[in-house]
Amino acid sequence: MMARWALLLLCILSGFAKAGDLIDLQHQPLVLPGSTAFYYAETGQPISLDTAREAFRQGQFTPSSSPFLSFGIGASPHWIRIALLNSSADELLRVLSIETTWLDHIELYLLQDDQLLTQTLMGDSFPFSQRPLNHRYFAQTLTLPSGTTELWMRVATPDPMLLPLYLGSYQVQQQRYEQDAYSYGVLYGVMLALLLYNLMLYTGIRHRQYLYYAIYVGLFVWLNLAYTGHGFRWLWPEAVTWQQWANPVLMILYGSSGLVFALSFLNIRNSAPRLYQAIQWLCIAVILLLAVLLLIPQGRVAALYLAFSFILLGTLLMLLLGGVAWRAGNPASRYFLCASVIAALGGMITALSVWGLIPFSPAGYRAVDLGTMIEAVLLALALAEQFRRTQRQRLRAEAMARLDPLTGLNNRRAFAERVEPLWQSCVRYDRPMSLAIIDLDEFKKINDSFGHKAGDLALEMTAEALLQSIRGGDILARWGGEEFILFMPETTRDEAVRVAERLRACIGTVQVREQDALISLSASIGVAARDEQIERLEQLICVADQCLYQAKMQGRNRVVLAHA
Ligand code: GH3
Ligand code: MG
Ligand code: MG
Repeated sequence: MMARWALLLLCILSGFAKAGDLIDLQHQPLVLPGSTAFYYAETGQPISLDTAREAFRQGQFTPSSSPFLSFGIGASPHWIRIALLNSSADELLRVLSIETTWLDHIELYLLQDDQLLTQTLMGDSFPFSQRPLNHRYFAQTLTLPSGTTELWMRVATPDPMLLPLYLGSYQVQQQRYEQDAYSYGVLYGVMLALLLYNLMLYTGIRHRQYLYYAIYVGLFVWLNLAYTGHGFRWLWPEAVTWQQWANPVLMILYGSSGLVFALSFLNIRNSAPRLYQAIQWLCIAVILLLAVLLLIPQGRVAALYLAFSFILLGTLLMLLLGGVAWRAGNPASRYFLCASVIAALGGMITALSVWGLIPFSPAGYRAVDLGTMIEAVLLALALAEQFRRTQRQRLRAEAMARLDPLTGLNNRRAFAERVEPLWQSCVRYDRPMSLAIIDLDEFKKINDSFGHKAGDLALEMTAEALLQSIRGGDILARWGGEEFILFMPETTRDEAVRVAERLRACIGTVQVREQDALISLSASIGVAARDEQIERLEQLICVADQCLYQAKMQGRNRVVLAHA
């Protein structure tokens, strides 16, 4: 905490310091010496320290206007000169850190009067083991004698030439690094947890978007490890060539994976097939272009421009895709848009400040981390919500598969499923049970005289009437066209006949109004009760069906009971 406050205070103090001012280091444990710097861009051949000093004496250097020097992508090598004052009588020990990780080549000189005190060569074009200090940033300890010293630097890199310089006591720098480490611990912890969780969901559920999400988050972590220098330090300390290319390559892969995830998650193939194809082609084209640039000797600057432009474009495309899905009525787009806006803001702030298009600040530099972390959490929520929605749809579809669409009664399948357990237990405990088949009389005539629609209406009203008059525990289903079936557990033949008579009477009261006519209905019903000879449900149905046939033969509109 103390270090935070000290830093804030010193940022303000250093903000007041102008180029050429002498910052007295004795009472300031941490300074941002960039604001007092002068810089000079080489125009042709590399120049030596002496030539640079000569140029400075001749006033060819430009005073800095910000504590964070930033010269953009593909800048020519720059010389930087900073004067430091130690007003105490003793030596001061300070750690200088240049807090970007991708600079290729840094020469560092410390001079007092004309005497060279320290000379260091750093940069990520050298293996990590050659670093003067074992840190992901370019850091070096400086022993500053009493009086004024000059710090000279030459920086050469095609990457964004951004130089956030911090000069602090060992203790203060250590505290800053430690806080930094904790914050990355939280970031990677959250992201890796989300990644693993969604990867597990993918292995279980096999929905592609979980895999795409895991890849997207994974590439973010990898990219973040690369540009923060954690990767070079811990994962590929000797792989200098990869270190040079990691940032543009991973930026492009990360951007593409985000788009692929969005296409799949938002189901863009259905809502906007043209856009779907266009974005796929864009990703392929950018990756191919990158592959070509990898082979060209001076391809890195172009690759960096490509990567930064693609990230900015990709961010806008994510918003566009969210908007398209929104307009198509995709409920998942709400979370997605919210997540993309936050990530876009974070990513743009970071990309623009690294590129040098907006003034650099440490908080702006970390904006992408916070933005992406919030995005990842929101997208995980969105995936969860989508899962819940498809689950609900599936349950509804399953329920629908058991219902007769016209009457809403059970269909044959549901009837069999629901009766089976009741049948089993009644057989086991030798309990009575009965069954009735109900068939509307002369139904064909209704269709023929009044039309199919009137017939449908009559069926619906019959189903409604039957539902009203059956008892709880009985199972009613539509058995066929104008046939219904009723299973009555714990019901003797006498009770079953009474129920059947009640149903027949009830159907007799149904009146269907069609234009000016009133259509009346009647039904014939066959009833059977289970006895010892009947083992299976189908047998009982068969007996009831025979009774129904009898009822029709005897003149319809009646109940016929099977003889015991
Ligand atoms: P019966 O008294 O002998 O039962 O005579 P019926 O006309 O009722 O019997 P039949 O089996 O000859 O004809 C049944 C009719 O039911 C024929 C068919 O067009 C009609 N039907 C079956 N399902 C539907 C349906 O879902 N909607 C309508 N409107 N009619 C249906
Ligand atoms: Mg009939
Ligand atoms: Mg029939």
